[in-house]
Amino acid sequence: MKVFKEIRALKVFLKDIRLSKKSIGFVPTMGALHQGHMQLIHECKAKADITVVSIFVNPAQFNSAADFEKYPRIIDEDGKKLETAGCDVLFAPDPNEMYPSPTSINISFGHLDTTLEGAFRPGHFSGVALVVSKLFNIVEPDHAFFGQKDWQQFAVISKLVEDLSFPVQLHSVPTIREADGLAMSSRNLRLTNEQRATAPIFFQALTTARKMAQEKIAIPEIKIAIEELFAKHKSVTLEYFEIVDQQKLTTVKSIDDKQQLIICIAGWIGEIRLIDNIII
Ligand code: AMP
Repeated sequence: MKVFKEIRALKVFLKDIRLSKKSIGFVPTMGALHQGHMQLIHECKAKADITVVSIFVNPAQFNSAADFEKYPRIIDEDGKKLETAGCDVLFAPDPNEMYPSPTSINISFGHLDTTLEGAFRPGHFSGVALVVSKLFNIVEPDHAFFGQKDWQQFAVISKLVEDLSFPVQLHSVPTIREADGLAMSSRNLRLTNEQRATAPIFFQALTTARKMAQEKIAIPEIKIAIEELFAKHKSVTLEYFEIVDQQKLTTVKSIDDKQQLIICIAGWIGEIRLIDNIII
């Protein structure tokens, strides 16, 4: 596996790959790699000739300095995992390489970035769109892979690619979970044993709500059931729980079989914020 920290060297290398008519697949990550990331890499390898993975904890998408500082960074371990997975290229730039001077660009997506996550993390999706645009310009991938766990992120990136005509095909990969249902996440590394034992409550809430929705129980009743479930666990705080249209992310008043819906949830265990979703 080739490792690059500099944009220019990576671009020179990838230019040759492109000239040899090989397709480039790309998996952007913030590191602390788990099986969810590995699944993206697996699908990337199946689709493209060359797999490029980036590891960059992007300051522009954090709206809490403490969250940014405490984000797990285990680059040596990640490197070994990537070698084993057969990744061809790792791009791991320093913040100065990606942002040589403070950036002033602001990208907004209307409802798509002000609802759900956007309502609680102002500026988050602008930071995501900025770094993904930069990474797409640097790597110029034919294919890029993202996880369904960050459903809203995929909606925002799809719009970004459409609006700016990035010549890349996007792929959305199902969420990989622990045996007890907890969605794999780099932030899970920060959970204490006690918090880890409580964390499956998010998946439990999603499966309970999906069952109720399939039984045509009214949405306000579903919401009460979920609030009651969280009220039983004092160490967990529910931030939002919404049933929304899969594409527009607009909330719905009732379950309609004709509409494609998804249930999205976010909350806190101590200082750690977790998100998850499930398709109805
Ligand atoms: P992150 O390193 O958390 O920024 O995630 C990098 C990519 O991995 C994003 O596209 C995520 O949606 C995806 N991802 C994170 N967790 C999972 C998971 N449990 N299953 C599948 N994909 C995931």
